[in-house]
Amino acid sequence: MNRSKKAILQGVKRVVIKIGSGVLTTKEGLNLDVIQALGEELCLLMEKRGLEIILVSSGAIASGIKKMGLSHRPQSISQQQAIAAIGQSSLMLAYEETFKRYGRKVAQVLVTRDDLTNRTRYLNTRNTIFTLLNWKVIPVINENDTVVVDEIKFGDNDNLSAMMANLVGANLVINLTNIDGLFDDDPRMNKDAHLIALVEKVTSKIEKNACAIPGPLGRGGMESKVRAAKDVSICGIPTIIANGLKGNIISRIFDGKEEGTLFLPQLTPMRSRKHWIAFTKSPKGRIMVDKGAEDALVNKGKSLLPSGIVAVYGRFRIGNSVTIINREERSLAVGLVNYPSNDIEKILGLKSSEIENTLGYKHYDEVIHKDNLVLMKNP
Ligand code: GLU
Repeated sequence: MNRSKKAILQGVKRVVIKIGSGVLTTKEGLNLDVIQALGEELCLLMEKRGLEIILVSSGAIASGIKKMGLSHRPQSISQQQAIAAIGQSSLMLAYEETFKRYGRKVAQVLVTRDDLTNRTRYLNTRNTIFTLLNWKVIPVINENDTVVVDEIKFGDNDNLSAMMANLVGANLVINLTNIDGLFDDDPRMNKDAHLIALVEKVTSKIEKNACAIPGPLGRGGMESKVRAAKDVSICGIPTIIANGLKGNIISRIFDGKEEGTLFLPQLTPMRSRKHWIAFTKSPKGRIMVDKGAEDALVNKGKSLLPSGIVAVYGRFRIGNSVTIINREERSLAVGLVNYPSNDIEKILGLKSSEIENTLGYKHYDEVIHKDNLVLMKNP
């Protein structure tokens, strides 16, 4: 596989473009000039290169804050949710009007993490987006901020864009922010900070560089952008973090100009369904295993049987995702369980042949089948 920037960009057809609040808003509210310029550029690229574009757009809360004349983000959840509802309509109107000028239509897609955790709703979302793309309509995706509470949030739109990239099978993610890419320090504070043009692998050093660069308006900052880039690289998708305030930034990227930071995809990508298990579903509990089971899972690619389980933490149901930990509480894997937590407590340490006698039923020999298990690799 050719991993040069040129080769990567040549093969791109479907691209997720995430635009942050720092790009989309100014002190006065939505930055209509930027939206207009990006819209024009994207329409040209769709025409010229036959790209399919999926936008993940922040800016609802930032725009709502300005629209209501507030000086900062409100504290209470209900006020933040109301502000998001107020801002979201302005955001969509801006996209609608911009793309209309070039004969294009947009569609609002609001999702929650809960939606994508449910496999049926995940597939429904995917079908809807594919239908929109078939019709050459541009999906504009945001988190449905008005209905979610912290526990079920994506957290930030960087994470949402990573999940969307996996969901639509994108060839590239472009994450537009208000600085030129990932630096080795915060370029707004340190004039000597250097742009890192290429990241082959997200190491702990790269993560540390990212932590030094917080984000003012949105929730992400560079840390969540790098985490998102790492998540999509696992599925074999590259990311470019670049400055969305720079004129013609996307064309410059596709023309091969030195822009932003390119994160290379992993050489052996994780399949979409495994990625969904590992990153989209949030674990509802933990299962502790002994050394023998650890070895079977990590080194031999086996399923998790009841005999290797030593403890169960949390309450969960069949099909929920759980984290598997060893006795030192190190996370080994994430997987979907075939039995609820209260039944696993009864069969832990037993042979699979004893499941039926103990529970009065047996769905499977395995508590977690290897096809529903994703190992956590150390960086
Ligand atoms: N969904 C939020 C909004 O539209 C943005 C979250 C983020 O920027 O990460 O305001």
